[in-house]
Amino acid sequence: MSVSFTEEQLAAGRRLFNGSARFRLGVAQLEQLPELDRVEVAFAGRSNVGKSSLINGLTGVNGLARASNTPGRTRELNYFDVGSEDALTLVDMPGYGYAKAAKKDVKQWQQVLKGYLRGRVGLSRAFVLIDSRHGVMTPDIEMFEMLDDAAVPYQLVITKCDKINRHELAELEAETLAHVKKRAAAIQQVHLTSAERGFGMDELRAEVASLI
Ligand code: GDP
Repeated sequence: MSVSFTEEQLAAGRRLFNGSARFRLGVAQLEQLPELDRVEVAFAGRSNVGKSSLINGLTGVNGLARASNTPGRTRELNYFDVGSEDALTLVDMPGYGYAKAAKKDVKQWQQVLKGYLRGRVGLSRAFVLIDSRHGVMTPDIEMFEMLDDAAVPYQLVITKCDKINRHELAELEAETLAHVKKRAAAIQQVHLTSAERGFGMDELRAEVASLI
């Protein structure tokens, strides 16, 4: 099932993301993680899934998450503070599944990600982005497993919905949900988005606002 919100919830989302997002820090090693003193939500997905575009679209700050990065290049957990009251932090997790990344780097990064997810008690939610043109792929399933192991509640977000038609989208939504149906920590609702068209942004903002 996709998600619907009341006008009031949508308005709360818009208020929260009032255009004042800023970069706080990049974390390359677990020791650098800041104290968890506000609601934190993380965004994960394969390289090129549209994660930077989604974060830019949500916050309304163009270029906040460098939109055209070399796939797989970003190797830090990037922290962004949102809103004027420091109530929310978005964490941009490094894109995974980049075929050209060296095995050694991948291993090292998986350790950091696992350490982050397991150790971040109180992480409110992880959003796992799925490209509408590819659907759920093996590296995504590895991410679901990591999140289930760490008991982090996670929700799937389909990106680039403008790339497929309505009928395909309904099918993809059902297929995507089937992948997480039996997964312990997965939320059984997906968000449908297109950062390019601004579609689904208000709903995702409302979802995040509901966590505060
Ligand atoms: P990241 O590597 O996950 O951060 O992905 P980017 O945000 O850099 O996007 C990867 C590519 O997908 C870029 O060429 C974007 O222009 C494109 N893209 C991102 N979001 C959308 C979208 O909603 N619709 C379409 N059609 N393309 C998108």
